[in-house]
Amino acid sequence: MPYRGRFAPSPTGPLHFGSLAAAIGSCLDARAAGGSWLLRIEDVDTPRMVEGAAEAMLRTLERLGFAWDGAVEYQSRRTAHYLAAFERLKLAGRVFACACSRREVADSGLGPDGAPRYPGTCRRGLAPGRQARAWRLQVEPGQVCFDDDLQGRICQDLAAEVGDFVVLRADGCFAYQLAAVVDDAAQGVTHVVRGADLIDSTPRQIFLQQQLGLPRPAYLHLPAAVNAAGEKLSKQTRAAAIDGQRPQAALLAALKFLGQQPPQALAEAALDDVWRWAIMHWNRDALPRCRSAAAPAGY
Ligand code: GLU
Repeated sequence: MPYRGRFAPSPTGPLHFGSLAAAIGSCLDARAAGGSWLLRIEDVDTPRMVEGAAEAMLRTLERLGFAWDGAVEYQSRRTAHYLAAFERLKLAGRVFACACSRREVADSGLGPDGAPRYPGTCRRGLAPGRQARAWRLQVEPGQVCFDDDLQGRICQDLAAEVGDFVVLRADGCFAYQLAAVVDDAAQGVTHVVRGADLIDSTPRQIFLQQQLGLPRPAYLHLPAAVNAAGEKLSKQTRAAAIDGQRPQAALLAALKFLGQQPPQALAEAALDDVWRWAIMHWNRDALPRCRSAAAPAGY
């Protein structure tokens, strides 16, 4: 099957170094394999969206010389597809309405990693007088495993570690897990290359693929960029916006972060030459095999 990769940023702020590393890693892995590379704006989580952020991200990617195949896909235009998948799960009796608030779930139990684990409160129906808020997918005991192309074998027992998870949120938005799985399948994505901050989502996405009868892409989770305090770069941690005026510098920093060894002379080269070098020399074996790594100074 021809390689189809994608970059799927959430437009919650400007493109930062962490998203740049995921963008360049996914793009180069696709291009080096002679594959296509798609761009999908994950603007499904409407309350977190920032006006104009998607446009700004696209402009920055263009200034950095990224070239994607086809039109940009926007999740905000794909609600009907998420609804259809949700209806299929509902028809199969796999989802249930849940009345629990976030606070109630957090108070009732933690999984082994300290994250809240849903204890199954509403699995067998709502208690009298309780209002349905979100819809959850029933998980099953047992390990969900996959072989990550960089991180090796990853297993998670969804029932023990996560619990039944939300697919349709109380605010009416479809959950990231459902939207990403539906879109990866609809776009024919064969390879998901993204930051390892999302690695814990992958077993949930694989479980959803199984429930919906969708194909499973190959996964490669790159190290996620963290700041000096060890926090993932994000808008919340005030990550700096990538400076589109200095594209060579930003691309070289991201290549080095991914273990590639671009010659310093490329800092002065034409943007096309940087890309040509990067595609020709893309080396998966040089990728740091860790879940997070420090972003370079200045990012
Ligand atoms: N939208 C997600 C993010 O920006 C990435 C989703 C994915 O690559 O699956 O963190």
